[in-house]
Amino acid sequence: MSSQSKTNSFRKKKIMRRKRDRLIGQLPYYLIGLLIIGLLGGAAYKASGKIAMALESREKEKSGKAEDQNPDGAGASAAEGDGSGDGSEAASDGTEPETESSIDALLDQAWLLAAGYDYDAAIDLLTSSEFYGAGENGTTDSRINSAISEYTHTRESLQPVEITEITHVFFHSLVMDEAKAFDGDADESGYNQVMTTKDEFLKILDSMYAKGYVLVRLHDIATMQDGRMVKGQILLPPGRKACVMSQDDVCYYEYMEDDGFARRMVIGDDGKPACEMVLDDGTVSVGSYDLVPLLEDFILQHPDFSYKGARAVIALTGYQGILGYRTAESYRDTNPNFAADCQAASAVAKCLRDNGWELASHSWGHRDLGTISYQKFKTDCDKWENEVETLIGPTDIILYPFGADVSDWHAYNSANDRFMYMKSLGFDYFCNVDSSQYWVQLGDNYIRQGRRNLDGYRMWMDIAAGEGSSSRKLDDLFKAEDVFSSNRPTPVEWK
Ligand SMILES: [Zn+2]
Repeated sequence: MSSQSKTNSFRKKKIMRRKRDRLIGQLPYYLIGLLIIGLLGGAAYKASGKIAMALESREKEKSGKAEDQNPDGAGASAAEGDGSGDGSEAASDGTEPETESSIDALLDQAWLLAAGYDYDAAIDLLTSSEFYGAGENGTTDSRINSAISEYTHTRESLQPVEITEITHVFFHSLVMDEAKAFDGDADESGYNQVMTTKDEFLKILDSMYAKGYVLVRLHDIATMQDGRMVKGQILLPPGRKACVMSQDDVCYYEYMEDDGFARRMVIGDDGKPACEMVLDDGTVSVGSYDLVPLLEDFILQHPDFSYKGARAVIALTGYQGILGYRTAESYRDTNPNFAADCQAASAVAKCLRDNGWELASHSWGHRDLGTISYQKFKTDCDKWENEVETLIGPTDIILYPFGADVSDWHAYNSANDRFMYMKSLGFDYFCNVDSSQYWVQLGDNYIRQGRRNLDGYRMWMDIAAGEGSSSRKLDDLFKAEDVFSSNRPTPVEWK
């Protein structure tokens, strides 16, 4: 079930360079009920309810502005514009109302792209629109001009991220109902160690966002080109820091039933990934019952938490099926919905990818891939290919169960038969577990990254160490005391 940093042998190699980045003022908490729905009503493009939610922050700028003190974000800088850009009053020049709302919709779309740091796309969208140069004598609406110069200016301030300093944090399924998870039964101790609760997760997101973290994909960090792993270029405004997030064992195992977790992942009415949860009265509710939909919600409210649409990495084992569907071969005769479940799981996996999520192997049987016999290792890899990759499509990422790597910290090489076998199956991204702030190894034909467990055990270790202790590991992300749930049994012991 769990990955843990305890046994990782090479965490000490890492340089603990703690940058005291100045605390970025938290962006304003966006109030609900803004006029956005009405505004978009006449828009020429069909804004989904969720896009409308994301645009609330833009609306906030248009109306209120002043509270926003963040100097770096696209959202913030738009609010600092020269004033010629905003204001629906600009329609007083006699522009047709229909054109007016189309321009608004265009500006909204461009703003969203810029909020996600894709200034090139935002500028392209504006300069290639039918409204660009469409005025008298080839002039352009002043709001469009203003947005273009705004985004051009911000683009000039971007700085490349040092990819070897990118942190990677991970979670397991989030506890939705703490009373059920921490109820004294046989599974309580495991949940207490390796799970994180919904409220803890949301507090962690708030803290990381306030500290300037921005989600990137593993594939933003580096990509394979002509057989070699090549550094990517991630450009962020000053004060922003890239991070990767992942979630392990997104399978909703049988033992978790009735313990306060979601039941499975589904596609919501809005086309975004959501979760099903069985409520106390036995009814099934679809909503934000785990990390995936909760992170989607957060990014809608804070589009600048995601670099060009990045989401987290979702890691799947195969032995009880994936995403809460009993799709493993062993269920073929016992699951009456086997074929339909395979189809549904496949559709959810595609929905995840379509929404920016990356998918990864967590081995088929949650095995320690570094120490099991080579024959068992090979069998496990093949089973994952046959039972999981057939449903979700090819993936090149493996997140090691227990963080158990197939080598020590030295670079992988062709003498490592396990590495070579995984390479032959198409894996290029390998993540172990490591409590250092960051650990990235860019190899010739692969990349390795350490991941940090943000769970009950890790938080308790920080709390037990006491404030100011050098053995605390989380302070660059959040303060454990501010996040750790009071419903957890303590002390949290590693068993
Ligand atoms: Zn695991």
